[in-house]
Amino acid sequence: MRDGDESRAGAALLDWYDRHHRGMPWRMPPAAKAAGARPDPYRVWLSEVMLQQTTVATVRGYYEKFTSLWPTVSDLARAEDADVMAAWAGLGYYARARNLLKCARAVLKDHGGVFPDSAEGLRALPGIGPYTAAAVAAISYDEPAVVVDGNVERVVARLWADETPLPGAKPVFTDYATRLTPAARPGDHAQAMMDLGATICSPRNPACALCPVNDFCAAHKAGIAASLPRKMPKPEKPTRQGTAYLARRRDGAVLIETRPPKGLLGGMPGFPTSGGVGPEIPPPLPAYWQNLGEVRHTFTHFHLVLQVMVAEVGNNATPWTGQFVAGASFDPAVLPTAMRKVWDLAAAAPAP
Ligand code: SF4
Repeated sequence: MRDGDESRAGAALLDWYDRHHRGMPWRMPPAAKAAGARPDPYRVWLSEVMLQQTTVATVRGYYEKFTSLWPTVSDLARAEDADVMAAWAGLGYYARARNLLKCARAVLKDHGGVFPDSAEGLRALPGIGPYTAAAVAAISYDEPAVVVDGNVERVVARLWADETPLPGAKPVFTDYATRLTPAARPGDHAQAMMDLGATICSPRNPACALCPVNDFCAAHKAGIAASLPRKMPKPEKPTRQGTAYLARRRDGAVLIETRPPKGLLGGMPGFPTSGGVGPEIPPPLPAYWQNLGEVRHTFTHFHLVLQVMVAEVGNNATPWTGQFVAGASFDPAVLPTAMRKVWDLAAAAPAP
């Protein structure tokens, strides 16, 4: 990208977005906005929180579930913690769900159920970082806030053919994104950048021939697009070992433990687990524990290997941790994915 090309590239991008934007349930199409409709900041915020580290395809169903259960931020603020955590189960990164509730309650208590209408005001809410504040302010209120995520970093690194490796390049890439953000329609511009990065300027095989800004793209001209952005090598993830204890009473009740509110899988239901995701603990009750094998799950910073121990116990068995939940009331869909894998392994095992 040459100096002075930014506004022409921005205009070409918006023109492309008008014709090719992706339809999403939380999105306000350009034609509707032009007719005066405004995006609902609650829905924009909810979708942006869900989309962190998660694909659009996965988020759609969760978004529909949340907005039908809790159509407004005030409804969400009044929801029970356990209901929200259950609705979030399987989406991962459970701190997001806890922060979602904190934020919704702050919007209701401190702002009368109306989201602040600036990135600065949004940033002051619990759980809203600079990216989410900028995205919600740009998309909901057309504030020319600069929205920079991995897609945007990739696009600008290529437009400017900047070979500085991430994460050190972040401030420079933010500067490029700022130069590209127009004063008019910054919300649609932010979404156009997201769409371009997700559909055309893809990580491995950018479809430069179809790209609306290929005339301005230095990496495309130099033939190095697919190699950008450069990244510092990531440290190897460690592997942690643990043991999950799945106890079932003869009447079908399952021993469930709600994890502490803070930390990994905080506030989520699961099976008592020793090591791996918490401290070493003894089995939850004396029993004949049978080892069914292991399940593996990868979190952001480590791989987890859990040995799955199962036991059938009497109806009067008293665990030192957790509570038995009647089989008829237990829904494995509320489990986070790592615990769901434990459940699935036990469910697939032949009866003793
Ligand atoms: Fe990405 Fe290619 Fe478009 Fe450049 S021309 S922005 S590398 S898709």
